Amino acid sequence: MSKFAKAAYASEAQAGFTHRTAMEEAARCLLCHDAPCSTGCPAGTDPGRFIRSIRFRNAKGAAETIRENNILGGSCARICPYDRLCEEACSRTGIDRPIEIGKLQRYAIEQESIFKLKTLKAPEIKKAARVACVGAGPASLACAATLAAAGYGVTIFEAQEKAGGMLAYGVPPARLPREVLERDIDAVRELGVEFVFNTKVGRDIGVDALKARGFAAVFIGAGLWNAKLPDLEGAHLDGVWTAIDFLKNAANTGGHTGLAGKSAVVIGGGDVAMDCAATAKLTGAAQVAIYYRRTLEEAPANTDELQYAFSLGIPIMTNFVPAKLVGADGKLAAVEFIGRDGKSSASVAADVAVFATGQAPEDMAQFANLCLTAKGTIAADCGGNTNIDGVFAAGDAVNGGKTVVEAVAEGKLAAAEIIEWLEMTQGDNKGRVRPAGEVR
Ligand SMILES: Cc1cc2nc3c(=O)[nH]c(=O)nc-3n(C[C@H](O)[C@H](O)[C@H](O)COP(=O)(O)OP(=O)(O)OC[C@H]3O[C@@H](n4cnc5c(N)ncnc54)[C@H](O)[C@@H]3O)c2cc1C
Ligand code: SF4
Repeated sequence: MSKFAKAAYASEAQAGFTHRTAMEEAARCLLCHDAPCSTGCPAGTDPGRFIRSIRFRNAKGAAETIRENNILGGSCARICPYDRLCEEACSRTGIDRPIEIGKLQRYAIEQESIFKLKTLKAPEIKKAARVACVGAGPASLACAATLAAAGYGVTIFEAQEKAGGMLAYGVPPARLPREVLERDIDAVRELGVEFVFNTKVGRDIGVDALKARGFAAVFIGAGLWNAKLPDLEGAHLDGVWTAIDFLKNAANTGGHTGLAGKSAVVIGGGDVAMDCAATAKLTGAAQVAIYYRRTLEEAPANTDELQYAFSLGIPIMTNFVPAKLVGADGKLAAVEFIGRDGKSSASVAADVAVFATGQAPEDMAQFANLCLTAKGTIAADCGGNTNIDGVFAAGDAVNGGKTVVEAVAEGKLAAAEIIEWLEMTQGDNKGRVRPAGEVR
């Protein structure tokens, strides 16, 4: 039977473990002393420890380990690329196959939800300093949760009307059910973090104004929200979308994309392209095809994502580059491609074309006089320090677009750096300068 259980826009595609299968899987774990799986997780979610808890039927302990280390443990359990992180590092691989760590993490967080287990609580002693986080995506949520757990007051300013960043507006609910994301966000809220929505920092309020309002430090986790269409003839036609706008429209309309019976072409070979194609199919498109400029082996999409697209009957045509978008009465009618060999060509009838060919940062200069890289991302070190004292940044806006777990890891690192900065500038260690090369 296919590992993908359902095919509907808002229904989760993959089934999780039952209690019995979770116990069976946990029993396969070798309980390694050095737990390479734990070092394989960028966010330090510590599978070695939480699997041990599951094995000894301590679901609360397992959920606590996950939440303490990765506040987005529920979402990561659904969409992390385990196969190239913790599961790739798993010692059991040498015997037969790796432990299904992602599904065990999902099981533990499901137990937390089913039995309403209290895993984290806000600290009783509060610190005086307050921190503003820009954006409510994974980087900011992880940074905010770490700061709040350490007793700092944190307010997140988010441009959209809900939290989650790309998890709320990009990743389709078939892969990440919205109630799972909501539960993760609630865990951040329960630590005392406040949210201000529909407020775009740089437009509605400046970084300097945040500081003037009493926020001692500002963290920027603004992601990559500038999606551009390629410079192709016909790119202005009705029916031509960027991936982000297409997925955001599906998210905002609850899957009512108006695609019923229509034909859609998705251009790209990454996870985002697979998500767009699956969304088109699950929201009613009669025909969906993906066109990618290289070979399938070169496609950056995850194996699971590719398999999911195939399971929905979506073909992937390789070695084709879009050349022109052809329209009739202002609407898209066809996409013309040329082959990588320079000789072949294809003209594909389409009502909708979605370009999943990458996202870029918005104009980050909106925040303050931040130093930017040549790609327009924020220049920051691995602790999130920018060129401006008291302004930190991490996540996609700095790394140029990676994964949720990496955004979480970077948000946590930036929080640790902010705490140290606050202690040196406002707290007990005020005036202390960290010696060059000092390791925290
Ligand atoms: C379609 C899609 C599918 C993906 N699938 C996966 C996957 O399966 N697995 C995986 O690990 N990763 C996946 N990713 C990548 C992952 O979503 C990102 O790496 C992660 O969300 C980055 O987190 P972030 O907090 O840096 O940025 P974001 O998630 O982009 O969040 C940034 C937030 O900041 C807000 N913001 C921006 N500017 C401002 C401003 N000026 N003021 C206030 N708020 C602002 C935005 O509205 C947004 O809410 C996917 C990405 C996309 C687009
Ligand atoms: S590496 Fe694999 S077998 Fe070892 S503790 Fe981690 S999950 Fe268990």
